[in-house]
Amino acid sequence: MSKDLVVLALGGNALLRTGERGTFEEQVRNLQRVSGHIARLASRYKLVITHGNGPQVGNLYLQQEAFKEVPGMPLHACVAMTQSLIGYMVQQAVSSVDPSLKVAVLTTRVEVDAEDPAFKSPSKPIGPYYQESEVPRLLEKGWTLVNVPGKGWRRVVPSPRPKRIVELEVVKRLAGEVDIVVAVGGGGIPVVRSGKGYEGVDAVIDKDLASSLLAQELNAEKFVILTDVEGVYLDYGTPSQRLVEELCAREALELVNKGVFPRGSMGPKVEAAALYAAKTGKVAVIAHLDRMLEAVEGGSGTRVLPC
Ligand code: ADP
Ligand code: MG
Repeated sequence: MSKDLVVLALGGNALLRTGERGTFEEQVRNLQRVSGHIARLASRYKLVITHGNGPQVGNLYLQQEAFKEVPGMPLHACVAMTQSLIGYMVQQAVSSVDPSLKVAVLTTRVEVDAEDPAFKSPSKPIGPYYQESEVPRLLEKGWTLVNVPGKGWRRVVPSPRPKRIVELEVVKRLAGEVDIVVAVGGGGIPVVRSGKGYEGVDAVIDKDLASSLLAQELNAEKFVILTDVEGVYLDYGTPSQRLVEELCAREALELVNKGVFPRGSMGPKVEAAALYAAKTGKVAVIAHLDRMLEAVEGGSGTRVLPC
């Protein structure tokens, strides 16, 4: 019998923990801590792993800005570089636990709509802070900058909605051939249609929304978002905070629309889980990375149900 497919979305803590600088060794070591669980799951399911890339693409961007002798790559190309980098780190970490596991890392483009309203109001900060004197040079590049009091000027880029996974068929085929496919890293490389093909755009797609789209399109048996908290809390950060064990997709979307969850962190996760549940009729889970096995079996975190 063929194995069911599970999409695991790894959060930032899979790669970097608080206080770490982001060395290669740190990141592989962090991945190694969860590779035993990943290997266990790979024996039972076809696994498609997605991941964030915020700190990695941020560091790459800082390196480029600091060193002008070599041409810098556009943001979408930096996303491609980090997909490959992080995929390599996953390969190394997984092999150290079980060298027989076959891991494919896929450079993945995600189409966004050129008319997406996000392009009119860039909101996602990236890269270093700049001094006032540099502002004219940066504006000439067509960048949007925001002033952060006391820190300086910073570039902001649009965060459009994911529309289509360009490499969907490739992910499908690979998932049938290997044990683990790593895809849609960092939310995917944002591209818009251009002629017969695509053009990369400087934007950042939310990794949880892109992972949800992938899980929907693959009709995955389960979609599991792994992060650094036990699940979704109500009244988060207050003395009365409580973990939600189950949430209906409809209810979840209502809470998101009411702005109950922050837009930069838990909001997109709840939305991503709800969209998957509503579309596929299956259960999505938001759970702590360290409880990945239980999360897949429905025994940890917040389950978002198709109701
Ligand atoms: P990741 O990097 O794992 O994708 P984020 O850092 O973007 O995840 O989001 C996870 C964070 O969301 C948690 O560390 C927590 O501080 C924050 N958070 C905000 N609101 C909530 C909430 N209602 N329930 C749980 N966590 C929340
Ligand atoms: Mg984070």
